[in-house]
Amino acid sequence: MQDFTYIGLPARVIFGHGTTARLPDELAKLGVRKALVLTTPPQATQGEALAALLGEASAGVFTEATMHTPVEVTEAAMQVFVERGADGVVAIGGGSTIGLGKAIALRTDAPQIVLPTTYAGSEMTSIIGQTEAGKKTTQKTLKVLPETVIYDVDYTLTLPPSMTLTSGMNAIAHAVEALYAEESNPVLSLMAEDGIAKLVAALERVRAAPQDPDARSDALYGAWLCAVCLGSGGVALHHKLCHVLGGSFDLPHAETHTIVLPHALAYNAPAVPDAMVALRRATGSDTPATALFDLAQEGGAAVALRDLGMPEDGIDRAVEITLENPYFNPRPLEAEALRALLRSAWSGTRPEV
Ligand code: NAD
Repeated sequence: MQDFTYIGLPARVIFGHGTTARLPDELAKLGVRKALVLTTPPQATQGEALAALLGEASAGVFTEATMHTPVEVTEAAMQVFVERGADGVVAIGGGSTIGLGKAIALRTDAPQIVLPTTYAGSEMTSIIGQTEAGKKTTQKTLKVLPETVIYDVDYTLTLPPSMTLTSGMNAIAHAVEALYAEESNPVLSLMAEDGIAKLVAALERVRAAPQDPDARSDALYGAWLCAVCLGSGGVALHHKLCHVLGGSFDLPHAETHTIVLPHALAYNAPAVPDAMVALRRATGSDTPATALFDLAQEGGAAVALRDLGMPEDGIDRAVEITLENPYFNPRPLEAEALRALLRSAWSGTRPEV
């Protein structure tokens, strides 16, 4: 048994079908009198439905959440929050909407209830990224950790197939890196392995039957486990590369994670034998990086960064930025090997590890 430190983040988690009905009670438990409901324009109807469910306890709906948590949007939401006398937030959506709720909590300490509708996992973390004048800064503080998370599988039944796959791969990436991050520990490894196994199997079932409630339930449960890995564990090269690529070339979040993961894992494989054993069990394959690549490709996701619009000469730039301020990684970062990793991810070469 390795020596380890385990950090459990406090959160109340409710999981199931139709769990949204519990929102008014959960809000009352937190002592919130009036909650501002947050969402994005495409999910406005879901936001309105929550406001209707809350009745007197609703401070209305703010539907302008957007990617990267721009400070201007947070300020506009803050104005509505204060004007309407809100003392809590309810966020329904993916990482972008949850990010706005966290930004309000950072400024007000208001309690948050989150109803996640993607698999990205922000709801279980104390991490917040914010963008001001084009620059994204990230911080970790318990002030932004949502108090209550209501996972309602019903919202995910309509998650479009392409988002289901890439968002699921985004979740899997959290768990893969938790297996070999500096903060890895046996408890998180249990969650990581089960989270990956549940998601890999469920993503295949959901592809065949997008509205299958049991497959959707397994996928969301797996995503929760992966989210705990992100919140309580650590990350490594894969997440670093995705942050560099997202920030430097404005590449989409979940799609970038989907493409990079098999290659980052192939890079680290020789340095993480125990993680590879767990990943062979979780994916049911002797070559887990290949299995993850195939899962993405067979499901119709882009597997080459060039197909997301990354220029070829960006490879060298991405290597430089990665090496300027690297994260912990189990295998030392070598410029030439990183260049080869990114070239494979750029061109969509199938890894054989
Ligand atoms: P997203 O929140 O940007 O959502 C993408 C789009 O899909 C939005 O228009 C959203 O309204 C829509 N959508 C969401 N759920 C839907 C559903 N069930 N049906 C139909 N449409 C739906 O995407 P995301 O991948 O969840 O989040 C990405 C963002 O979250 C990134 O900015 C990333 O940095 C951040 N993130 C933060 C953390 C953290 O710990 N702070 C963790 C993971 C992701």
